[in-house]
Amino acid sequence: MKHIKALGLFSGGLDSMLAVARLRGQGIAVTGLVWTTPFFGAERALEAAAELDLPLLVKDLTDQFLPLLRQPPHGFGRTLNPCIDCHILMFQETGRIMSAAGYDFMFTGEVLGQRPFSQHRGALNLIARESGYPELLLRPLSARLLKPTRPELAGWVNRDQLLNLSGRSRKPQIALAAQYGISRYPAPAGGCLLTNEGFANRLRDLLQHQTEISRRDLELLKWGRHFRLNAQAKLIVGRDQRDNKALAALSTATDLRLRVPNFPSPLVLIPQVNHRVPVLQAASLCASYSDAPADTSIPVLVEGPSGREVVMTRRQPKQVFQHLLI
Ligand code: SF4
Repeated sequence: MKHIKALGLFSGGLDSMLAVARLRGQGIAVTGLVWTTPFFGAERALEAAAELDLPLLVKDLTDQFLPLLRQPPHGFGRTLNPCIDCHILMFQETGRIMSAAGYDFMFTGEVLGQRPFSQHRGALNLIARESGYPELLLRPLSARLLKPTRPELAGWVNRDQLLNLSGRSRKPQIALAAQYGISRYPAPAGGCLLTNEGFANRLRDLLQHQTEISRRDLELLKWGRHFRLNAQAKLIVGRDQRDNKALAALSTATDLRLRVPNFPSPLVLIPQVNHRVPVLQAASLCASYSDAPADTSIPVLVEGPSGREVVMTRRQPKQVFQHLLI
């Protein structure tokens, strides 16, 4: 008898763990696959895969994903999350690996109606169609509510043993987890920075002001407070030691770095200084976020591609810069 192999899109969320468990229960050899970008990583999937003893492939999707942020054909969700196009892309790429590596079908833990934007019936059908592999994309948790796929029609998978979950309630999944002895699983959602409003605002600003976006630009969005100084220049203020360390690690010789010597001070970074920067304004902002005294002239050390200089400035109330905050 043919030994069936399936490749599952595996986020590490409870639904994806249950989809794996359900297929394994039918003797199917299952491998997980998690895609990563600077917006979502593999941490949850790695932990959950270890919990299930699941072989897991980790692949980067950044280059293919970035164009979706400028103009996703199926639009954005609540923030800057192009969930429908993200799923289509993931299944297109997963489908390629499935074909090349000899898997029989692919699957996902999606549940019909669980997410209003990307998991209603029309969206699930659209995603399957546009993935290029509509007949080979199985959703074991909702399969009995969906059109049968080839794995079911060919008898590779027993459709009767698949599930008919739908809607937003998590109760059935929690009961199933207990049945399968799955006790450690992450809280739902929260794994994608594109759904975080603050991050989405910073990313939107970057997309508006830069045509070429590097991975470093995207990593910088994760740290500090961001201010837009002018169309070319933005400034990042470390909020604490962790931010300062991360910004220092991401800084390169093309950046301008500012700090107030002799007082607790944030690291202030202006990335890629190949344009005119309002240095006085930047120094004043740096001083205003430091612990230097308010009533005196403060030296701010400015280091960059053209050397070091000290700029004298004064602290101002932080509200003065509020309108520049991204
Ligand atoms: S939340 Fe993020 S990772 Fe998930 S489908 Fe949407 S864009 Fe993709």
